[in-house]
Amino acid sequence: MTDVLGLPVLVLNRNFDPIEVTSVRRALVLMYCGAAEAFDDGELYDFERWRSLDPRTEADAITIVGGALRAPRILHLLRYERRPGLGVRLTRRNLMFRDAFECQYCCIRPGIAQLNIDHVFPRSRGGATSWENLVTSCRSCNLRKGGRTPDEANMRLKRNPVRPRWSVATQITLKHPSPFQEWVPFLKAS
Ligand SMILES: [Zn+2]
Repeated sequence: MTDVLGLPVLVLNRNFDPIEVTSVRRALVLMYCGAAEAFDDGELYDFERWRSLDPRTEADAITIVGGALRAPRILHLLRYERRPGLGVRLTRRNLMFRDAFECQYCCIRPGIAQLNIDHVFPRSRGGATSWENLVTSCRSCNLRKGGRTPDEANMRLKRNPVRPRWSVATQITLKHPSPFQEWVPFLKAS
């Protein structure tokens, strides 16, 4: 059984810019407190009005005393001017997206399971774990390079690693590759 309360909800700030994804559970709390409204089929709903809607299907019905509540898919924050734009988190997955799943030395695409994360300046010699010092590399390039710098190993980086400047919409799209249809216009617009 799906955990309806755990389903994702796209959160928009007052200007209708996407800022994050939350759960149905938290979305309902924010609506109940009057901090947010649900956006559904072109209309905004406060909690009272939302309660009068029927669930779309059984799959997104939340059982409450005396009936069922529709799970919101888009939330519009009323009180907060929260700005989009927290930095992109340094994760293995985000590194692979930045480097397009390619070995940054020999340019092959061996598949996620065969890709390593390489410290350009070796970690064993104090190299930082940072966007600027990490790249994806295939296993054989990783082995060949060992504890050396690219220069020492006579290897060349395809491109200089930098911190990505992805929009919030891009980050949400990477994390939720098949979002609800309702989200798409908001993720495209920004
Ligand atoms: Zn390689």
